[in-house]
Amino acid sequence: MSEIGYPTSDLRPPTSDRHPLYTMSDTFAGLQEGCYLYSRHWNPSNKYLADAVAAMEGTEAAWVTASGMGAITSAILQLVSTGDHIVCSITTYGGTFAFLNNYLKKFRIEVTFVDITDLEAVKNAIRPNTKIIYTETMTNPLLQISDIPALAKIANDHDLKLMVDNTFTPMIVSPAMQGAHIVVHSMTKFINGKNDCVAGAICGTQEFIDALCDVNSGTAMLLGPALDPLRSSSILKNLHTLHIRMKQHSKNAKYLAEKFREAGIKIIYPGFEDNKGYPVLKKMMNEEFGFGGMIAIDMGTSEIASRLMEKMEGEGVGYLAVSLGYFKTLFSNSGKSTSSEVPEEIQKEMGLSEGLIRFSVGLDNDIEQTWTRIKSCLEKL
Ligand SMILES: *Cc1c(COP(=O)(O)O)cnc(C)c1O
Repeated sequence: MSEIGYPTSDLRPPTSDRHPLYTMSDTFAGLQEGCYLYSRHWNPSNKYLADAVAAMEGTEAAWVTASGMGAITSAILQLVSTGDHIVCSITTYGGTFAFLNNYLKKFRIEVTFVDITDLEAVKNAIRPNTKIIYTETMTNPLLQISDIPALAKIANDHDLKLMVDNTFTPMIVSPAMQGAHIVVHSMTKFINGKNDCVAGAICGTQEFIDALCDVNSGTAMLLGPALDPLRSSSILKNLHTLHIRMKQHSKNAKYLAEKFREAGIKIIYPGFEDNKGYPVLKKMMNEEFGFGGMIAIDMGTSEIASRLMEKMEGEGVGYLAVSLGYFKTLFSNSGKSTSSEVPEEIQKEMGLSEGLIRFSVGLDNDIEQTWTRIKSCLEKL
């Protein structure tokens, strides 16, 4: 521990807002709140955004990262060591799947992939060396809903951490309020909402966030996926409109889901009462934000899916693109794009049809007109 006193080189008089009683050594020891040691560790812009995201998710603290993958990998690596084990939803973002299934082999960390809606399967997959249950609130791309309170109970009973990727459902579900220990986000998607940056966030207890940022042993501090502070301030501005955007995404997705169903197209939408996830989402959700902006339709084959997507792009429905949460509607053929890291046999096992088109429904003011355009594309197939 360092001595407490005024730095001898600093002759300015002490004032209450200058924390004059701390030294550089105290700052390194993390003792001086409100003083920023170095920008990769913390900086004021990142702190403003992190505090806002933590407030949104109802966690004590958060840390913002340069990408969603930066958040996911840092949070996971903070909790596991060689020889440990993770239980993960089989329907998970392709990059996360690749990290867990391929990359963690380097550290001899094993992962069991399960149907996360089958709670018995989750329990049965737990081993003495399991450290994390990992899932997404709404899984990509099949839009299954994770029962977070039930998974949190399993995690607590076995002294594990439940980590939840809430990228598809910010504001709609608050996983930490439902029992999740750690919440991760790709802010590249809905939170920023403009597809002009890449960013992520890790939300959790103050203790966990402090551990991630520890100068000697913190994964975030040492691997260094810090978000650029200029980006933080631009994302913070966009965060202030997220509640309005989520309502509009949800309203438009519901409209299109109903129209697709009326047109006899096979559709996955968790807002339909006969969807398996509906009652689970209903019990967890913050109702006023709706069921989210994501829908998926099944066109049977990837050829028909491609034809439809090209026509829709031509008609101005939106863009054939893999991201989501944008103000324009985006659509992609999941099996050949965002889930292409998932081997074909596993795609089959998880029920991913090759003709599945995932839509991230945009903020269109006139969604009736959008449907008219989609309908004319369907008729011309
Ligand atoms: C995009 C995405 C990620 C990865 O985020 P990046 O910002 O691209 O690194 C993780 N999880 C989900 C659900 C995503 O959609």
